[in-house]
Amino acid sequence: MHLKKGVANYRRLTKLLYRKTFSPDWKETYWRGYVTRAEAYERRMITALKAMFTAQETEALSKLNAGSRDLLDKSEALAQYKKLATPILTDLLKVSIDNGSNLIKPRPTHAGKDAPPEKPLSAEALKWLRKMIDAAGEQITEETVQKIARALSEGYAEGESMPDIAKRVRAEFADCTARRSQVIARTETIKTSANGAIEGYREADLQQAEFLAALDDRICDECDSLNGKIYDLDDCAGEIPVHCNCRCCWIPVV
Ligand SMILES: [Zn+2]
Ligand SMILES: [Zn+2]
Repeated sequence: MHLKKGVANYRRLTKLLYRKTFSPDWKETYWRGYVTRAEAYERRMITALKAMFTAQETEALSKLNAGSRDLLDKSEALAQYKKLATPILTDLLKVSIDNGSNLIKPRPTHAGKDAPPEKPLSAEALKWLRKMIDAAGEQITEETVQKIARALSEGYAEGESMPDIAKRVRAEFADCTARRSQVIARTETIKTSANGAIEGYREADLQQAEFLAALDDRICDECDSLNGKIYDLDDCAGEIPVHCNCRCCWIPVV
């Protein structure tokens, strides 16, 4: 047992001595590319989420008019989220894994030929993605249900007329299409990008990754304190985003 531990420590030490260090310029370029890529998918998510919330609002208002107090069909809402998020986040996960592994083991370029066929996601990656989308869908739906319930109970408690209660419902959905769509889109795209990078490093046979704090002026103390910290790949899951709107990322430890 002691010997095994000794060998592991020795390996860790030699790895530390021979670790490739990335320059601040490299980190900056990497981070910009990483965030720019994530932002393209974030915009697609925002558009799709806005459309989902708008459809839910129309449905909720018509149910309200019909005298119902059950304004959102939960399983329908969950299905809507899964349908919109799955294609976007599947693409992003593929791209992120490819980028992570290409960073270490660049795939041979096929000059003058068509690009090599796209590699499908592994069963493991697909399982993670489905689980993440399901969990986010449940949480998003639950929050929307709560928001509608609050609008109704406040309106009824005040003895408001139907048009006034409808106004409250519309106000909740206005928050969904603006602020919430952005927060959800950013959280889910960063989660996917970060996990994809880790999966890519794993494919390239690395064992560790370094936390790179977002290089913009919005950086908070918590993320700043994690900057440069080395994690075993198995310990990276769920660490990024650290909070809503976190744009930190993993860089490889080679
Ligand atoms: Zn932060
Ligand atoms: Zn952060």
